[in-house]
Amino acid sequence: MELWQQMIRDSVHSVDQLVEKFGIDREMASKLDVFFQARINPYYLSLIREPHDPIWRQCVPDEVELEDIDAPEDPLNEDDMSPVPNITHRYPDRALFLVTSQCGLYCRFCTRKRKVGDSHKISMSTLESAFNYLEQHTEISDVILSGGDPLMLTDLMLEKIIMRLRTMKHIQVIRLGTKMPCVLPQRITPKLVNMLKKYHPIYINTHFNHPWEITEESKRACAMLVDAGCPVGNQAVLMKGVNDNADVMKDLMKGLLAMRVRPYYIYQADLTKGANHFRTPLSVGLDIMDKLRGHISGLAVPQFVIDAPGGGGKIPMLPNYVLSRDDDKIILRNYKYNIYEYPEAKDATKVADKNVYLRKSKRKKQSTLTDAELIKNIKVPVLNDQ
Ligand code: SF4
Repeated sequence: MELWQQMIRDSVHSVDQLVEKFGIDREMASKLDVFFQARINPYYLSLIREPHDPIWRQCVPDEVELEDIDAPEDPLNEDDMSPVPNITHRYPDRALFLVTSQCGLYCRFCTRKRKVGDSHKISMSTLESAFNYLEQHTEISDVILSGGDPLMLTDLMLEKIIMRLRTMKHIQVIRLGTKMPCVLPQRITPKLVNMLKKYHPIYINTHFNHPWEITEESKRACAMLVDAGCPVGNQAVLMKGVNDNADVMKDLMKGLLAMRVRPYYIYQADLTKGANHFRTPLSVGLDIMDKLRGHISGLAVPQFVIDAPGGGGKIPMLPNYVLSRDDDKIILRNYKYNIYEYPEAKDATKVADKNVYLRKSKRKKQSTLTDAELIKNIKVPVLNDQ
């Protein structure tokens, strides 16, 4: 058994352990266990500094979860957008492929807790129908392996899945959505990264939410992935009592960039049942973005998004930089709240018409001629010999 597997086995997960480790009332611990089981591995447990700190809040069950009874279980409507088990197909050229129900840590804010930890709800036995769907849908060029956490699979199983995807020529990019570099960095081993680098382009979306999660171990894990040629991006969730503060987010984003992890998204927390106590007013996220943009390197500034309830996808949220706009000018403010005027360009449509690339793609859409026929039809001006 590998070290990371042993650490999963040694996780805090039972009602007895919740009572003993965190002083939760036994009856409450049982109810919480039924609602969404706990799994806190020894590595992540060691990051807790005091009760109710930002690490504790992300992983220790809290009775407030049970008060949130009216909220939806699937606020992003993933299940309605699932044409076959294990696949969510929301965007035209991308698909989410759920390959396991297991995670290295069960996060209390998880938006997929209706399925996570339950191998009947994300089953390995239905992988074949998912592969068939991906084979038939040649418009899909980007597949995101998720779950659960795909790095809960053994290297062998993960490689089998990736190899199968690599037989589909239309799939260009494979992404792994994994929290392991943050919650169980021991999972990133030389054997794993040597396997991954055979199947590029492989991208990693990881998930750090707080600067205390940046440790020597997590730095090492991310360095191994990047050194193996996997670009690593981070998706953070904005959460009350965890990271709803500009200085905390600044430290997190700068820390990530320093370990070659590109901040990609900050999500406004979803409406998921049992997790609404993490939600913050939109103004908190906008204020954080205002204090990031211009104040730290643009490379460290992620997009702040709301994943639209009902399955509308990610919608970017920005502080307001455009103060007014008319046909002649745009009035802008910069990160220091200084005001600037930018003159509007004239004849924008004519400029666009002169763009050969745009003109060609427009013509391609309207014409049934092949490229070769189109090229033949282009009239070349005859130059008179002087
Ligand atoms: S690792 Fe991801 S899928 Fe698993 S519990 Fe945490 S947020 Fe949910």
